[in-house]
This record gives sequence, C-alpha cells and structure tokens, in this order.
Amino acid sequence: MKITNTERIKLEEMFLAGAMLISEEPEHWISGYDEGLSFCYPCALKKVEELRDSDPDGEYFVDGGWGTDGDDTPSCETCGQRLDNTLTQGGCTEEIRHYLMYGFDPFCPYSCDDMLKVLGSSGWEPIDGENESYFSDLYKLCRIILNEHFWIMPNNDFRHMWN
Ligand SMILES: [Zn+2]
Repeated sequence: MKITNTERIKLEEMFLAGAMLISEEPEHWISGYDEGLSFCYPCALKKVEELRDSDPDGEYFVDGGWGTDGDDTPSCETCGQRLDNTLTQGGCTEEIRHYLMYGFDPFCPYSCDDMLKVLGSSGWEPIDGENESYFSDLYKLCRIILNEHFWIMPNNDFRHMWN
C-alpha cells in the first residue's frame, strides 16, 4: 500500500527532527593501512602518528574527508563517533529489513537519521520499475510506523518529542 504525499511529508519531517539531534563527522581512513577502517579526523591523525612511530618506513597518511557510498553508516574505530556517508541500494535494503524485523522507534535520533539517509538515497518511487520489492518493503515499514504512531499525522510539530 502506497504512502500518500501528506504522509511522506510528515514522516520526512519526523525523521529530520530526530536526525538533527545527532552530529556526524566526515569519514576518513588511512592510506597504507586497512582502508576498510573508518576514523574521525582527530583519531585518524593520531592513528597515523602511532603507525609512523611503530613503522618509520611505512607510508601512512590520512585519506578521505569527502562523501562516500557505504552499505552502512560508519563510525570511528577509535572513539565511536558517527561518520557521514550516503547509503548504497544494498545499504537501504538492509536498513529497511532491519527495522521491519526489529521495529522502528521514532524517538531514537539514530533511527530517524538512518531513515533520512535511506530516503535520501533511494527516494520514494522506483525508477524504471526497478527494485519493486524494496519499495514495497519501504511502504510496508512506513505504514507500520504510521499505524503504531498515529500522533505523527495530525500533529505539525514533533520537536517537542525530544524536549
Ligand atoms: Zn574518532
């Protein structure tokens, strides 16, 4: 069952209100080291120093700092800071599956941010009829959220939720 435009706008407003409460830093990694590991900038600098100290012949430097695509939202290996990226289609599918399985809590800012990323990457409508099963899962999840949290619809302002 499709989600109406009004419902989409309400959901987006709610996701945005939650997402605005969390901070994200640009994603960095270290060239010459395991590039699959993500760091915030201060931790990346520190890690490069450590690597250079223990291996003076190695060539290590901080890389990244721009937007990348990922299958999930990375966090810093050292301090756990949430890092910014955009989700791949596979990443969007995983997020929707996760929330269908474990439930979605609109009061969790991280969950709201996840959904905002999902919508930012996949949008609301399939392009050329592709990924139809993904979009039917997306609508299903949104319908569940709207049914469980009926206050989302008539209310105009969700910011009080976190105050
Ligand atoms: Zn860090």
